[in-house]
Amino acid sequence: MKILIVEDEPKTAAFVQRGFAEEGFVVDVATDGADGLHLATTGDYDAIVLDVMLPQRDGWSVLQAIREHRPDQPVILLTALDAVSHRVKGLTAGADDYLVKPFAFSELHARVRNLLRRTPVRRAEELNYDDLEMDRARHRAARSGQPIDLAPQEYRLLEYLLRHPGEVLTRTRLAEQVWDMNFDGDSNVVDVAVRRLRRKVDDPFEHKLIHTIRGVGYVLERRD
Ligand code: CA
Repeated sequence: MKILIVEDEPKTAAFVQRGFAEEGFVVDVATDGADGLHLATTGDYDAIVLDVMLPQRDGWSVLQAIREHRPDQPVILLTALDAVSHRVKGLTAGADDYLVKPFAFSELHARVRNLLRRTPVRRAEELNYDDLEMDRARHRAARSGQPIDLAPQEYRLLEYLLRHPGEVLTRTRLAEQVWDMNFDGDSNVVDVAVRRLRRKVDDPFEHKLIHTIRGVGYVLERRD
């Protein structure tokens, strides 16, 4: 499970981050609205915890922009404004839930859990692109009906590509999203994994689906 915390107050951000990390979540933190929106729209999060009063761009505007890109993204608003009108504003703006500050981490955690239970099928069980398919329930992948035997890391990489077809995915983004690591320019872990994946997914077939964007990264795309 991966969660994004958008919170400018360092103490609150730290305790929420620690809390979710202890519960086994992978946690990203943004400390202003612009950075939060960037991560929210480029990353892949199971839930987003979004403060309302933020520098750069407030939570309302971030929420609105997230909704344009990701209508189904679960979002919980954190608000210090304990007024009915603000709560209503939050819910009509598309928040799935809200929590008034100050709050106990246990309550936030319970609400996030609850939200994830309510949206269990957000991540489709079956992903496909062109003649490539992945059945997540059975943990299987196939191309043109032929099963592809993938190592765990290759499976996660292919899953990520299938979730973002046609998008140019940078090495940095792949390293963060698939390996949960910060990319250092010298590391070729992404390139090595892509090469292995291509051997299985593309080499046996006439038309190639994984393409290199020189100096940038990779894209899953049918080109012929
Ligand atoms: Ca704040």
